[in-house]
Amino acid sequence: MPKPEETLDPQDWDSLRALSHKIVDEAIDYTRDIRDRPLWRLMPKEVRETLSAPVPAGPTDIEDVYASLAKNILPYPMGNIHPRFWMWYMGSSNFTGALGDFLAAILGSNLGTGDHAASLVDQQVVDWCKQMLGYPDSASGTLVSGGSMANIIGLTVARNEMAGIDVRKLGVGAIKKPLRFYGSDQLHSCHQIAVETLGLGSQSLRKLPSNDDCTLDIDALITAIEQDRAAGFTPACVIATAGTVNTGAIDDLISIAALCEKEKIWFHVDGCIGALIAIAPENKIRVAGLEKADSIALDPHKWLHAPFEVGCALVRDHDAHRGAFRLTPEYLEPSTRGIATGKAMFDYGVQTSRGFRALKVWMSLQEHGVEKFGRLIDQNIRQAHYLQQLIKKGPLLEMAFETNINIVCYRFNPGNKSEGDLKIINSEIMLQMQETGVAAISDTTVHNRYCLRVAINNHRTISEDLEFLVRETVRLGNKIV
Ligand SMILES: *Cc1c(COP(=O)(O)O)cnc(C)c1O
Repeated sequence: MPKPEETLDPQDWDSLRALSHKIVDEAIDYTRDIRDRPLWRLMPKEVRETLSAPVPAGPTDIEDVYASLAKNILPYPMGNIHPRFWMWYMGSSNFTGALGDFLAAILGSNLGTGDHAASLVDQQVVDWCKQMLGYPDSASGTLVSGGSMANIIGLTVARNEMAGIDVRKLGVGAIKKPLRFYGSDQLHSCHQIAVETLGLGSQSLRKLPSNDDCTLDIDALITAIEQDRAAGFTPACVIATAGTVNTGAIDDLISIAALCEKEKIWFHVDGCIGALIAIAPENKIRVAGLEKADSIALDPHKWLHAPFEVGCALVRDHDAHRGAFRLTPEYLEPSTRGIATGKAMFDYGVQTSRGFRALKVWMSLQEHGVEKFGRLIDQNIRQAHYLQQLIKKGPLLEMAFETNINIVCYRFNPGNKSEGDLKIINSEIMLQMQETGVAAISDTTVHNRYCLRVAINNHRTISEDLEFLVRETVRLGNKIV
C-alpha cells in the first residue's frame, strides 16, 4: 500500500478564504491606525521566549499561527512606518507595495531567467529607474536587495574594468598596480565592506577629509590621485555620494564627473539617498551631473517607500556590467523556444534565483505616478527646512549643521554645559523618546560635534509632528538637566 500523497494546499479553501480576508482587514486597520499606536515598545520576556521556540515538528492550525503572530509580532515593529520615525535612513512603506509583495509571492515566479511576465516587469522597473534619473536608455541595470548590494555591483564592474587584466580569471592578486578607490570621510560603510569583499582590502579605499559642508574635497581628491599615480597605484574609481547619511551632503557631481573623464577613472555615484531627488521639481538641480556617472546605486525602499527590500544598480556600459557576472552553465543554457528563453537576469549580479521585488515598485509607481513621488521628496525637504527654522527660533536649541536636504542635525543646549555633558543629555533625550514610543531620531557626530539627527524620509510626517519634536526635545532636556 503506497503512502497517501500530501500537499501544502489546504483541505478547506473556504476557511482559508475567511482567514485571508480577516488578515487583509486587520492589515488595513493596522496601517490606517499607525499614528495611534506607540512607534516602538520593548518586547516583554514572554514574547522573546515565544520567538525563540524550537522548530515545530508537527502542525498548528493556521488560525493559531496568525493569532500568535498578531499577539507577538505585530505590536512590536521597528517603527519606521510611523509618522514620527526619523532614525537612520529608511522609507515608510506603503500598503500598495505590501499588496505587491503578496501578489509576487502568489505568482511565485523566479526572476533568475525565463520568458514570463514578471521578468518583463522587472526590466520595466529598471527602465523606469533610468528614466527617473535621466540615465541613458542603453544602460543596463538590475534590482537587488538594497543600496549596499547595488553599490557592490557598481564597484565590482569598476574593479573589473579598471584592473588592466582579466580579473575574473586571474584574481585580484594578479593586478599589477593596486587599485585605489576614493570617496569622502562621509562615505557609507557599505563601500568599505564592498572593497573588502572584492578582495581589494580596506586600504584600497581612500576616505578623504570632507569640506566644511561635508562634501568631497575635490582639491584633496586631485592631490590623492596624483600621489597614487606617482607611487605606482591605479586610481580606479571615485565614489561620489548624492546625499550622505550623516548630513545629506551632495558631492559636486559635475566637477567629479569632469575630473573622472579627464583622468580616465570610473565615476560611481552612491545615490541611495539622493538619486531620486532627480524626480523632485523643486530640488532636482541639486543632483545635476548624476546622469554622467558610469554606475549608480539607488534605493527604492528609501524615497519610493517600497517595502523592504529593493535596491537598484545601474551601469552605463551594458557589456561591462554583463561581462562582470555572466556565466552560463549547461543547466541554465537558454533555449530558442519555450520557457527557457527571455533575458538571463542572473547575468547582472551574484544571485541565481531572484524574487519579484519589482512588482511592489511597479504597482505604486502606477497608482500614484512619478510626479507624486517627486512632490513627496520636495515635501520632506521642505519639512526639514521648517524644522530647522523652529530649532533656530526655539530657546535652548541649536543647529549643529546647516540643513541641506532632508536631514536635520541639532541639539539641546542650555548653555553652561561641557561637550561631554551635552552628549550625555542629548543621548538621553533620544533614548527617552524611543523608549516612550513617541518619536524616533538618531544621533551622530559631525566634524567632532555630537548632535541629534532627524532624517525625514517619511510620507506620513506632517508639520505638527515636527512641532511636537521640538517641544518634546526641550521638555525632556529640561527634565534631564
Ligand atoms: C542606505 C544607504 C546605503 C545602504 O543601502 P541599504 O539599502 O541599507 O543596503 C548606502 N549608502 C547610502 C548613502 C545610504 O543612505
